[in-house]
Amino acid sequence: MFPDELKDIPIFEKIFCNRTLNMKSIKAIGFDMDYTLALYKPETFEKLAYHETLKKLVEIGYSKEILNWEFDHKYMIRGLVIDKIKGNVLKMDRHRYVKVAYHGFKELTREERRKLYDVENVITYEEPNFALIDTLFSLAEAFLFIQLVDFKDKSDKLNQKNYNDIYLDVRKSIDLCHRDGSIKNKVSENPGKYIKKDPNLVPILRDIKLSGRKVFIVTNSLWDYTNIVMNYVCSSNKSNENKKWLDLFDLVITGSQKPLFFMSKNPIYSVELDSFSLKNIDLLTLSKKGPIENKVFQGGHFKLLYDILGIKTGSEILYIGDHIYGDILRSKKEIGWRTMLVIEELEQEIKEIQNLKDQYDLCDSLNKKRVHLENEFERHQILEKQEENDASIQKKEEIAKKIKKIGYDLLKLKELEKKEIKNYHHNLHPIWGELMKTGRQNSRFAAQVETYACLYTSKLTNLIHYGPHKNFRAVRDFMPHDLNE
Ligand code: IMP
Ligand code: MG
Repeated sequence: MFPDELKDIPIFEKIFCNRTLNMKSIKAIGFDMDYTLALYKPETFEKLAYHETLKKLVEIGYSKEILNWEFDHKYMIRGLVIDKIKGNVLKMDRHRYVKVAYHGFKELTREERRKLYDVENVITYEEPNFALIDTLFSLAEAFLFIQLVDFKDKSDKLNQKNYNDIYLDVRKSIDLCHRDGSIKNKVSENPGKYIKKDPNLVPILRDIKLSGRKVFIVTNSLWDYTNIVMNYVCSSNKSNENKKWLDLFDLVITGSQKPLFFMSKNPIYSVELDSFSLKNIDLLTLSKKGPIENKVFQGGHFKLLYDILGIKTGSEILYIGDHIYGDILRSKKEIGWRTMLVIEELEQEIKEIQNLKDQYDLCDSLNKKRVHLENEFERHQILEKQEENDASIQKKEEIAKKIKKIGYDLLKLKELEKKEIKNYHHNLHPIWGELMKTGRQNSRFAAQVETYACLYTSKLTNLIHYGPHKNFRAVRDFMPHDLNE
């Protein structure tokens, strides 16, 4: 494993680097579990979360007819923002300009967007009035929210609730589904239906261990579920492999309550693996060097992890997760861990972008032509002013005719450009367009990835393409003046 040099890696399996990271300085590699070590099948897993949430909503008084609704797992994307008060879902660029917005299933016009989300109003797009769709777990909840907004607008069934009430009901219900076993019991009964298996996972975990690093998990899932999921993703389907996956890790922290794990001092318990019971542990023994009795814990905080693994500073740890807020932002910002974000959608997006190369070039050339015509238009308008008193009538008529012609061509070109850009984005995602871009600018999501993820990639097993001491180098930063266009 671990080829020396990295030629011919398909671009959608590359690891991209925002901030230079020399793996030689990394002493421990940690993993989030859900949507990182274990990749779920959205068409079944998110669908399950959606239907279980519908049941909970009916229990608290929503009309039974919602039980017949269907979930479209492709409708929502990460990085969107829910406006709980107005009942809208927004996609914005890195400057917080709202570029696409839907109210229910109805797209807001440019004027409507401008009126509601004028950038000068300095809206922060934060809780409590806004919610961020920054994990794949939130896609079902966002879809259900716009369905209910649409339902409220079209019928009188939800007259007594405002959009915020509806959002809170959805949030409460989906939260309960995650906690009361409605989702996890079904996944545990048949993990193969909901979770993907990646044959490179165990080899890559073994290789990391062989490279002399400590390997750990910090997951918000509890031990019973963690064991079932990890058994499934790491086993070769032999029934006697129960808990064998633990050999691949030095430490497993379950119920970690990230992002609190990176900030406050929660109590830590040792987990009794068969009875699932929790035992108080003597923190003094943890800080002593030497093998620990049990490697599975619940709760705690990052400093205890340092004690157990013999880590001195946060920069010795690379943590790999899928949740920009829960896994990446706090761990990097508060305690200096190096981070790798898993963006599963990236694989499909990169493939589509490659397929759309001609369409992209077309948009680019239309854009250049438009800029040229706009300049021409302005130049002729100035000329017209300059010649106002001096030129002959014939010359003036010629200029006026030219202005009219350029104006007409410009209008047509603008329409065409708009249509082709829409086509381009539509091919990437029919509702929201490209994940990482909003118009020509980076999306808000892309901007967060750039700021908080040292590395990002479509799946963690892409590490298989890289050597254990790889020096990931950031690409040179570009500003508009560097591009020489
Ligand atoms: P991690 O990604 O491995 O840290 O685990 C995420 C855990 O959070 C999983 O057990 C999910 O079921 C759980 N989870 C996701 N969304 C919610 C929620 O809204 N409420 C409670 N738990 C959640
Ligand atoms: Mg996760």
